This record gives sequence, structure tokens and C-alpha cells, in this order.
Amino acid sequence: MRDKRLFGTRGIRGPIATKVTPELMLKLGLALATHVGEGEIVVGRDTRTSGEMLQHAFMAGVLAGGCDVVDIGLAPSPCVAFTTKELGAKAGAIITASHNPPPDNGVAFYGADGMEYLPSQELDIEDLVLNEKLKLAGWDSLGRVRSYPRATSRYIEAIKRAVKVKRGFKVVVDCANGSGSVVTPYLLRELGCKVMTLNSHPDGHFPGRAVEPQPWNLGDLMNTVREVGADAGFAHDGDADRFAAVDENGKFIKHDALIALFARLAVGAEKGGKVVTSINTSVAIEEVVAEAGGRTIRTALGDIHAAMLEHGAIFAGEPGKIIFPEFGRWIDGVYGVAKMLELMSLEGKPLSRIVASVPDYPMYHEDFSCPDERKAGFMENIRKYMLEEVDGIRDILDIDGLRVNRKDGSWLLIRVSGTEPKARMVLEGRTRAGAERLRDIGLRGIKKFLKQ
Ligand code: MG
Repeated sequence: MRDKRLFGTRGIRGPIATKVTPELMLKLGLALATHVGEGEIVVGRDTRTSGEMLQHAFMAGVLAGGCDVVDIGLAPSPCVAFTTKELGAKAGAIITASHNPPPDNGVAFYGADGMEYLPSQELDIEDLVLNEKLKLAGWDSLGRVRSYPRATSRYIEAIKRAVKVKRGFKVVVDCANGSGSVVTPYLLRELGCKVMTLNSHPDGHFPGRAVEPQPWNLGDLMNTVREVGADAGFAHDGDADRFAAVDENGKFIKHDALIALFARLAVGAEKGGKVVTSINTSVAIEEVVAEAGGRTIRTALGDIHAAMLEHGAIFAGEPGKIIFPEFGRWIDGVYGVAKMLELMSLEGKPLSRIVASVPDYPMYHEDFSCPDERKAGFMENIRKYMLEEVDGIRDILDIDGLRVNRKDGSWLLIRVSGTEPKARMVLEGRTRAGAERLRDIGLRGIKKFLKQ
């Protein structure tokens, strides 16, 4: 496949001053309308200060292309996906830059079934924009706009119907002042929870915290959960396709543990089935899935959507991005929060004890600078090196860099990023000493082939 020039791993993102300009958004709206031909396109936005400006430019493009707009305004990304599917629209678009800094914005597209556009579809859109193949509708077939303010309440209702939460929990939720603010606190209350909110009024300056839901940004959430004696804490990124959770002790729950817990829940409910996860996650996922009678399939980073379809998976997740196919084919952080409450309700134990039922092995993640022009040569060398230096190899995965799985369950992955000038090393040992030994092997290779 040829390289994408406008799109990154998810949609288009960048500074509004230089990349994601109103002019580009107009062209992208026209391109999406040209791509789908006719019918309705659902459009929403997150809380960024540039959201209204860019949404209107985008919608003008859609109308000029002869498609109608269903304007749902401020909404989480998964709510745009849900509404697209629910209304039988041709496509959906969310104006968001996810967890990028406040001066950035962007857009991501969803197909009629609510699934995020695959790379091949994004290339089709790029081709229309870059090669001036945009098609303007005539004066008598221009699109119309209808606003659909019920989108968020319909989404909340659908999630309430889909999960079973038997008792009310005390929870703290931190929406990062993003678009989760207009949904998640209300959903939690309707699920019977006593809800305390942090950073849960929409504000595109993101005054509360950095938007990415990582432990180093969630100090206030962790402290508040402890101080008020809550059962759990939840956090979103700017558009609420992602979520993070902390247990009743205010401890951050690792993304891989969340994937393992939900994968096991899905396999248990279906009495088997396939689970998709990315190449960089813990072997604990395979272990709990196998124990529950399911099978794990690993994919390249960014490929979980396509793999989910190909294998008919009942669950798919990579760190921070979880798809619950029983509800929809999109990454959904709001549904994820509700599902966590369902799990807590089902197990009837403190969240820390539920998480403790997933094996926790020592892992390392490290990034190294690797200019794009050196990536291919580096991977060739490091491959040979890893196959020679790592002992006790059980099997290898080479779908995205090289992951060497050892017979004892430990593994070493070295890959190059598709979006940044970086090489990444991830590894997991059965013991701290085992992990450190693998780390030494990895670092020696990286020093030899990268840092020269
Ligand atoms: Mg996001």
C-alpha cells in the first residue's frame, strides 16, 4: 500500500495554524461527500477552541458535495460512531485531535457500520483531496443540515440497555474537560452511581490536566478516589474513545490488565471465541483467554479493526484502545467505563482484587531515536541479532518489527514506529531478573545497530 500523506494512524491531526486549516477541512468535507456519493453524514466535535470553526468548514464541504449533514455538536467520538450506525447514515466524522495539545485539531471518519475508516479508505480520501478529484453538486442538489441534539441521550440509553450494573458504586470521573464531559458523568448517574467529577465541564483550553489518560497525568484522580473512599476512578482523553481506570486504592490499572479483564469477560460470556490484541501487549492476555476457552490473535499496531473483521473476533484491544464488538465496531471509552462497572457488579469484589486475578509480569517499554531513512537497515540487523542472541525461542512474530517469544513465556519485541522517527523496545519477563536479562540483550543490539 502507498504511504499516507495527510492521515496519521488515526485520522488527520495537527496544528490548526499550519495543517488542519479551515481550507483543508472544507476539502475533506467535500472529499467525504464525493466518496460516499449521497445520503447523510453525521458530524460531531470535541471541546477544542477551534472545534466550531472547523466543524462549520467541514460541513460546508459536505453540503457542497451534495450530502446532508446530521449535526450532533459536542460529543464523544464513539457517540458519532454509534449515531452513524443508529441512523443508517453513510458515514460519520468527528472533529478532534484526541490527546494532542490544545492548539491542534483534526478529523477522523467512520463508515456506515460505525467502524473507523481503514487505511485503504483514508487513502481514497487523500487521493480525492490531493489530486483535485472533488465533485461539487449542482445548485439544485446541494445538501441540507439537520441538528440532532438527542444523539448523546440516545447513546446513553443504548449503553444502559447493553450493560447490567446491579448496584450503585461510588465513582470519581475525570473527563479532561473533553467531550466525555457531556456523557460519562450522566451515564454513571443513570447507572445508579454516586458520581464525583473532576475536569468535567467542556473547556478547550484543557485547564485541568494534560489530555492523555496516563498515570502521570492522573494524580488528582488517584488522590480523590482515595480521599473520598470511592470504589473506582475513571478518566478519558479529549474525545473519550479512550479511558483509564484506577482501583479503590487510587492505583492506576495497567492498560494491558484492562484488555485481559475484558477479553476474559467476553470469552466467558460467549463460551469461547477469538480475541484480537496488538503485538506489544502482555502474555497475560493469552493466558487468561486460553484459560477461559478462547484464542488470542496478535496484530500489528493500528490493525485491530481489520483483524477483528477478518477473524470474527468477539473482542479487540491495544493499549488504551478497546473495541467491544457486541456494542459496536468502534473504540469506545464510554462503553468501557460502563463495562467496568458491570464487571465490578458481577464479581462483587473490590476492583483491586478483580485486577489481581490477572497475572502481572514485569514489563519494560523504551523508545529510541531512529531516523526514518535508517529504519529498514536497523530492522534487518536487529532481526538477525535477536534470533542469534535470544535463547530458548518458542516462536517469532514478524508482522510489525520482530517479537521473539521464549519457551518460558517471556518475550522481546523491537519495532520501528510508523508515525515517528523512533524505534521501540517492549519486553516482558516471568521474573524481574528474566526481564532485565532480555533488556540487556535488547539494549546491546540497539547500541550496536542504532547508536553508532
Ligand atoms: Mg482519543
